[in-house]
Amino acid sequence: MTDLEAFRAEARAWLEASAPPSLVGQPGSQLDGVWGGRRWRWADPDRKAWLERMAARGWTAPAWPRAYGGGGLSPAEAKVLAQELRALRLPPPLIGFGLTMIGPTLLQFGSEEQKREHLPPICRGEIRWCQGYSEPGAGSDLASLQTRAERDGDHFVVTGQKVWTSYADQADWIFALVRTKPDAPRKQDGITFLLIDMQSPGVSVAPIKLISGSSPFCETRFDHVRVPVRNAVGAIDGGWTVAKALLGHERSMIGDAFGAGAGSGGKGLADLARRYVGADGQRIADPLVRDRVAQCEMDTRAFLLTVQRTRDAAKAGHKPGPETSIFKVYGSELNKRRQELMVEIVGPQALGWEGPGFEDAELQLTRDWLRSRGNSIEGGTSEIQLNIIAKRVLGLPD
Ligand SMILES: Cc1cc2nc3c(=O)[nH]c(=O)nc-3n(C[C@H](O)[C@H](O)[C@H](O)COP(=O)(O)OP(=O)(O)OC[C@H]3O[C@@H](n4cnc5c(N)ncnc54)[C@H](O)[C@@H]3O)c2cc1C
Repeated sequence: MTDLEAFRAEARAWLEASAPPSLVGQPGSQLDGVWGGRRWRWADPDRKAWLERMAARGWTAPAWPRAYGGGGLSPAEAKVLAQELRALRLPPPLIGFGLTMIGPTLLQFGSEEQKREHLPPICRGEIRWCQGYSEPGAGSDLASLQTRAERDGDHFVVTGQKVWTSYADQADWIFALVRTKPDAPRKQDGITFLLIDMQSPGVSVAPIKLISGSSPFCETRFDHVRVPVRNAVGAIDGGWTVAKALLGHERSMIGDAFGAGAGSGGKGLADLARRYVGADGQRIADPLVRDRVAQCEMDTRAFLLTVQRTRDAAKAGHKPGPETSIFKVYGSELNKRRQELMVEIVGPQALGWEGPGFEDAELQLTRDWLRSRGNSIEGGTSEIQLNIIAKRVLGLPD
């Protein structure tokens, strides 16, 4: 038996013994699960036990170094662990922007002190993070951001407004882009990447309501918020490099999650079609619907295999580059296509908002479909990703 086979056997035995039986068969996704943080409300004690057991073993962040709360696994071992979790149909114990965005960025750019302070609480699900990039006048053109940070001894004093900050009302910390050198010749220069405690005096948040009825994001205001200078990640005035690296992690995560059919709650398209359109034995009765379902499932499968290949390369040390824009565009367009198809299959029953004529799952479908409209905007719009692909992947002229 090779070392890797031995690791697989050991990991499987441990997972089988440690995972609460109620969680088997609930695979979840990168957007649907336990986000953790000080304000997290535990609806299910089994989920809590699962997080604690996995965190104690370092397996909430299997490939991160042990010194920072991770599992210290090699890329090959981390891949085996992910395969075993999938095989047992177990949910990730923890999800969120700590694990997928700021954690990998700190590993790459953070000081030793920052890694030791922030990474272990992320791994244990104790601190939840949000992202303070966009502003009313800076979305696609992110480098135009105006939130100011003025130096006052060993602190910055931050004043300004962020917008569309997902889950700011539930986050404990925010990673934010601030302007530290307003007179820099290029707008990309003079930006600093700052870690800010949401409990600092002067931070306030106001939820924004979406078309889907939920309020997953907020306006975040900073009114003379004092932030220690040691909370700058990377060079002061040199935060644009850090910001772009983080966007690479974000786009990988979004493409990955949407490609996996996030928002569909994992419901199979074929099952839905057999139920609402009709079945001819095991086949979907309508050949046109059958064809579209098969196409969507094949595209999803092919996409996920490609994402998996990149994930393996990332575990082997390759940092995400502009190619993550391809995943972002394709994954979000795929999820939108999938949601549209679900609504078409379910028909008028997928157009309800409330009332006794609809099942809960049907009402959820309406909301998921509306929510999916934002997929090609969040994390950078599809148009912007296509520009990046044209310039930085294909090398086309401006
Ligand atoms: C669900 C959701 C969650 C989000 N979460 C966060 C978050 O947590 N933190 C955060 O900081 N931000 C978040 N955002 C904001 C998101 O990053 C921005 O909405 C996005 O970058 C677009 O910026 P904008 O809304 O200002 O649109 P604009 O930049 O004003 O763009 C408007 C339109 O113009 C097009 N456009 C703009 N420039 C160009 C160009 N050069 N070439 C071609 N077309 C162009 C765009 O594609 C778009 O169609 C979230 C957004 C959504 C929808």
